[in-house]
Amino acid sequence: MKIAVVGTGYVGLVTGTCFAETGNQVTCIDIDQRKVEKLNNGIIPIYEPGLDVLFNRNTAEGRLKFTTQLAEGIEGAEVIFLALPTPPGEDGSADLKYILKVAGDLGQIMKDYAVIVDKSTVPVGTAEKVREYISLAAQVEFDVVSNPEFLREGVAIEDFMKPDRVVIGTQSERAKVIMTKLYAPLVRQGNPIIFMDERSAEMTKYAANSFLAVKISFMNEIANLCEKVGANVDDIRRGIGTDSRIGKRFLFAGIGYGGSCFPKDVQALAKTSQEYAYDFKILKSVMEVNARQKTKLLPVINEHFNGDLKGKTIAVWGLAFKPYTDDIREAPALENIQALLAAGAKVTAYDPEAMENVRQVLGNKITYAHTSYAALDDADALVIMTEWPMFRTPEFGKMELLLKNKVIFDGRNLYELDQMKELGYTYYSIGREAIT
Ligand code: NAD
Repeated sequence: MKIAVVGTGYVGLVTGTCFAETGNQVTCIDIDQRKVEKLNNGIIPIYEPGLDVLFNRNTAEGRLKFTTQLAEGIEGAEVIFLALPTPPGEDGSADLKYILKVAGDLGQIMKDYAVIVDKSTVPVGTAEKVREYISLAAQVEFDVVSNPEFLREGVAIEDFMKPDRVVIGTQSERAKVIMTKLYAPLVRQGNPIIFMDERSAEMTKYAANSFLAVKISFMNEIANLCEKVGANVDDIRRGIGTDSRIGKRFLFAGIGYGGSCFPKDVQALAKTSQEYAYDFKILKSVMEVNARQKTKLLPVINEHFNGDLKGKTIAVWGLAFKPYTDDIREAPALENIQALLAAGAKVTAYDPEAMENVRQVLGNKITYAHTSYAALDDADALVIMTEWPMFRTPEFGKMELLLKNKVIFDGRNLYELDQMKELGYTYYSIGREAIT
């Protein structure tokens, strides 16, 4: 099948590459000329494990191409995916300007029937709007389908190639047949393609992300209470996660969720509720809880240094919003680093993948270490912001030689309390007793 993917970011590039891998002829379109140049020169602009192997194979086979030209890219495409940004607008609702601009352009240039697929996360009613914008100039028949994406950065290839489910919102039989054919190779193990109407598909994506945000925030609230009552949140997690009604995942307490999806999607769903005059109380609380949680360690750090961070050097391990990605959108690390700098501290940071992206935002305001251990050199304390596996079992003996003080503020609960006690560290974590 010939397909086009408009928008070649985290979602678009993975979508295009994976559909090329299943034998389709794919053209990815992006307005970012530098990005397209890089891709045409074999350079992948993002870090996503396993993407390079598929990318190289399919570009070499001529099944995966890149262009900045929409008309050229969609030529002959039976399916056109929109994997465009939907950032929060000023009022918190999803900004649809990228989607609707491309929809309008498509109406003018489409020469044959095609299925236009909203892969971006878009509010209820967007498929209808996209249809309207295309219809303004379209001379050919077309269908608009909502097909939200559930991939997780860091394991995007696996998620895309073996999805738990595929959600397709359409009422067109013609589009259904085409989408089923396209996805068939990805659901061979029997995971379902779930068909529904467009509005329900759009809501499904927001419901999924908001539910996960609720689950994380609930556990963070339990953690905060654990600190007060003298309980250990990790034991609570094990105690409830083994209940099959609850499940083990998304129960890890920490310094809050970040990333390009949860914060914006929770906010957008709250905005939708407001538009429909529904008081969605849990969503409001989740936003509040997460905002508070993200900076939860700051007063602890401040207190440890008796309210004086001036001239102190703080080592930070982890900048990405989660491990296995270079994505720093809404990453808790950024907010914390900025607060530490504002309090007069010096920051030396290390992240295996995200330092280049942070450099674009913070420039020389912080020091970028070449290795995790180099970041510790002469630091007054270590703050852990991202749970990269390499931070889980470090050489504590080596750390001790580098750090000025054996002090760790752990936003991701990487270490056992007994171990820290034995090693003689001052250790603050989330939802557990502080070791001082
Ligand atoms: P992104 O910012 O990484 O990529 C978007 C791309 O679209 C950019 O490369 C940009 O240059 C390009 N673009 C903008 N306007 C364009 C135009 N007119 N023509 C062609 N290209 C254009 O975004 P992303 O993270 O891939 O997210 C895309 C959508 O998918 C969002 O709605 C997001 O909420 C949703 N989503 C993201 C994830 C994720 O993990 N990142 C997961 C599921 C869903």
